[in-house]
Amino acid sequence: MNQQKPSDPTLKLRGALPLAPAPERCPAPVPERLGHFIGGEVVPGRDESLFTSYEPATGEPLCQVAAADAEEVDRAVTAARSAFDRVWGGMPGAERGKYLYRIARRIQERSRELAVLESRDNGKPIRETRDVDLPLVAAHFFYYAGWADKLDYAIPGQRVRPVGVAGQIIPWNFPLLMAAWKLAPALATGNTVVLKPAETTPLTAMMLAEILAEAELPPGVVNIVNGAGATGAALVDHPGVDKIAFTGSTEVGRIITRATAGSGKRLTMELGGKGANIVFADAALDQAVEGVIDGIFFNQGQVCCAGSRLLIEEGIAAAFLDRLKRRIETLRIGDPLDKNTDVGALNSVEQLQRVQRYIEIGRRQGAAVWQGSACPTPEQGYFVAPTLLTGVQQTDTVVREEIFGPVLSVLTFRTPDEAIRKANDTEYGLAASVWTEKASKLFEVAHALNSGVVWANGANLFDPASPFGGMRHSGFGREGGIAGLWPYLEIQ
Ligand code: NAP
Ligand code: MG
Repeated sequence: MNQQKPSDPTLKLRGALPLAPAPERCPAPVPERLGHFIGGEVVPGRDESLFTSYEPATGEPLCQVAAADAEEVDRAVTAARSAFDRVWGGMPGAERGKYLYRIARRIQERSRELAVLESRDNGKPIRETRDVDLPLVAAHFFYYAGWADKLDYAIPGQRVRPVGVAGQIIPWNFPLLMAAWKLAPALATGNTVVLKPAETTPLTAMMLAEILAEAELPPGVVNIVNGAGATGAALVDHPGVDKIAFTGSTEVGRIITRATAGSGKRLTMELGGKGANIVFADAALDQAVEGVIDGIFFNQGQVCCAGSRLLIEEGIAAAFLDRLKRRIETLRIGDPLDKNTDVGALNSVEQLQRVQRYIEIGRRQGAAVWQGSACPTPEQGYFVAPTLLTGVQQTDTVVREEIFGPVLSVLTFRTPDEAIRKANDTEYGLAASVWTEKASKLFEVAHALNSGVVWANGANLFDPASPFGGMRHSGFGREGGIAGLWPYLEIQ
């Protein structure tokens, strides 16, 4: 054995150069109180509207948040209108693009802080926020920055112009990424925005407000109003809003669709899902196991496009489940800020109870409930162990309804036709995965699925250049790619 001598230069180097701090050690102070961002100013909001936001991993209070009422929403919309008329709507695209590039770079520079805040606020592991959410957030701004001066080529032969003031309402599962998906295309196309974050995850949006100010984005181009459903409803109802972009539950999507009917407001809806993961016998099975786990457990299943239904070809079902269980036993559940954590906390106590309720419903309807036992689930905080429901029927509640938790319903099939029929037997149509090494089967099945997105031998893969969105009760309109520009453009 070669022993390293004390004079070995790499040893000296190691002693002399401290490693960069791990992101979870990065100081990311949580403000005691969050207000709103209106007309380029951070405003405290009304004292009487304050509510508490909790840290999912501990259940302890994290900060106080003000809720905007209709009057504050009106101030935000007025600021957005004025910024649209005065500066942003008429600014040359190349100039707007510079702001977006600046925002993208600043997000990269502050990505560690943002990742820590996101993990504390949402409950998802730092590995996810640091390695998935934040890079995608920056990538979205970079991507749409590139479109700002090329809009005349977005729809060949047509002149385009911005729609006006966009009201954007987002959920808690990807707080900053959903903000980026909404803001980047809206700003690139010359619209101004009033954004409403989810009531349980306001932190990173308000830090983004700081970044927008650092980038010297003209006041009023982006306004952020915090609050719960009533704040969202006030934004939807405001007559000064030209377009509503919503991501959230199908239920609230329906309410907004009804509320805006006849108003002339444009709508895009990204709603719920009940994604199928179809695994054929000829798939690369270990790869498929990883994909299934990524699709439903790495985000505690709090992903609209989660592969929450597993369809396995009958001949390999037992063996595949064995492998899956063995892999689940190796997952670490716990502190989202520990970089070894695979499964973090659910976002809120309501979400925790909802997921537990669904597991109970599954049990009552005859499902066998299996939860890995190798890693103990923390007692404090909103944790649910990765759960498999086997012995379920196509008609069971847990197979039909979106659970939005780390709960996987397992079904089997014998032929590609049966797989397609079962996968399509849902009111949703957001995302699906197909696992097979046979390309002809892959294409045949992928094209037959009623799903806005189909991943081939993969799961939960995103790219800003690739459109994302649903069919049927999963919504309408696309975000990402060139298609993501259209909802924000008027064609002349
Ligand atoms: P949610 O309850 O529908 O809330 C989404 C947003 O709408 C939140 O900001 C919410 O405020 C606000 N809101 C609630 N009631 C409103 C109303 N009457 N008018 C206007 N706004 C209102 O959904 P969630 O529970 O936060 O998120 C989970 C759901 O989102 C899941 O069903 C998931 O599938 C879906 N989702 C879909 C996509 C996609 O791209 N298709 C992406 C992510 C999530 P509060 O925070 O106060 O409730
Ligand atoms: Mg919170």
